[in-house]
Amino acid sequence: MHISQSSKTADTRWYLGVHCRKCKTPILFGLDRGEGQAPNVAPRKLLLTCGKAECRHQADYSESRVDRFQRPPEAGKRSNA
Ligand SMILES: [Zn+2]
Repeated sequence: MHISQSSKTADTRWYLGVHCRKCKTPILFGLDRGEGQAPNVAPRKLLLTCGKAECRHQADYSESRVDRFQRPPEAGKRSNA
């Protein structure tokens, strides 16, 4: 019996996030527990900083559309791009 090794570390959960206004990189800020429902997040102030080291752009995303993201399996790996 063979069990896929990748399945035990795969993160299949959905996260709430926005796109960085500068570099368009998804900024994840919360775990979506809505199970398919529309994000019910309306924080008064949503100040987020881009996670990209070369960007680090900070902006107020209170008025921005919140999207749902699924964390890529290779998230732990660092790319030198
Ligand atoms: Zn950015």
